[in-house]
Amino acid sequence: MQSIKNKFSPLASESVPRYAGIATFMRLPYMDIKDAQGAQIGLYGLPWDGGTTNRAGARHGPRDIRDASSMMRKMHPVLNLSPYELANCADLGDAPVNPLMIEETLDKIEGFVDAMVERNIVPLGAGGDHLVSLPVLRALAKKHGPMGMVHFDAHTDTWDRYFGGCKYTHGTPFRRAIEEGVLDPKRIVQIGIRGGLYSESDDDWGLDQGIRVMRMEEFNDLGIEETIKIMRSVVGDQATYVSFDIDCLDPAFAPGTGTPEIGGLTTVEAQRLLRGLLGLNMVGADVVEVAPPFDPSGTTALVGATMMWEILCLLSDKISRG
Ligand code: MN
Ligand code: MN
Repeated sequence: MQSIKNKFSPLASESVPRYAGIATFMRLPYMDIKDAQGAQIGLYGLPWDGGTTNRAGARHGPRDIRDASSMMRKMHPVLNLSPYELANCADLGDAPVNPLMIEETLDKIEGFVDAMVERNIVPLGAGGDHLVSLPVLRALAKKHGPMGMVHFDAHTDTWDRYFGGCKYTHGTPFRRAIEEGVLDPKRIVQIGIRGGLYSESDDDWGLDQGIRVMRMEEFNDLGIEETIKIMRSVVGDQATYVSFDIDCLDPAFAPGTGTPEIGGLTTVEAQRLLRGLLGLNMVGADVVEVAPPFDPSGTTALVGATMMWEILCLLSDKISRG
């Protein structure tokens, strides 16, 4: 097993400086999926923002997150684990996209994730706008059926249509996923929700479906530990996806995103909430909406890379438990 572990090890930053070499997620080896025999977690990019209704730019997210992820080390000091000891991880490149064609892109992304699912590789994606989660969920549901979801976001993303008839935008992915039966709304919990609405009935559809919508005001009253208990009880022990929209964070921490909302989570709160998900039956995850054109300092890309690393640790622990 030593040789296969080596095949999936990140570049050692003690011998090759972090700024050197070609940027991949966490400095892991890049592999075409056809050569990724033995991989258990596939980190990949979703370079697409054609579902963005306002400020575009998340198509550039994967490249900047790859660069920032060179700052990540091997050992998680709080969870006390190293993901690379627990699971074989690789950068599988970017999903194919067509920046001018929405539905064609959804199909291409679904096909890319299908190939991972067929090989028992758990997908950990970097967006891209939030519409990219929909084709990923479609692919995973073929194996797992309707999934639960822990959804970090300022927005519920369960609106119906934009600009007349447009069904597929980054404000609608989870409405579509519920309608299609790839998510089980009674096993969805949304954290970080805040900001103004278009009308007073905006939240009704999701609440009627049974989604556990936790607005920031409730989170602030309950605190971290109580919120973790609620998240865990909503999703239970069945297959669960984790979707982390970077705009769940306050723009003081993550300004580089298309739809910032003040009054959000701190980076520390988000890290603690993610760590509270250890041991859940996670079948995939993504970090989305990092938009480098609004991120001149690179802070948001670093935050995105770090949240991806936190989730990678959770996924690897889950895989090691079988
Ligand atoms: Mn979102
Ligand atoms: Mn959002």
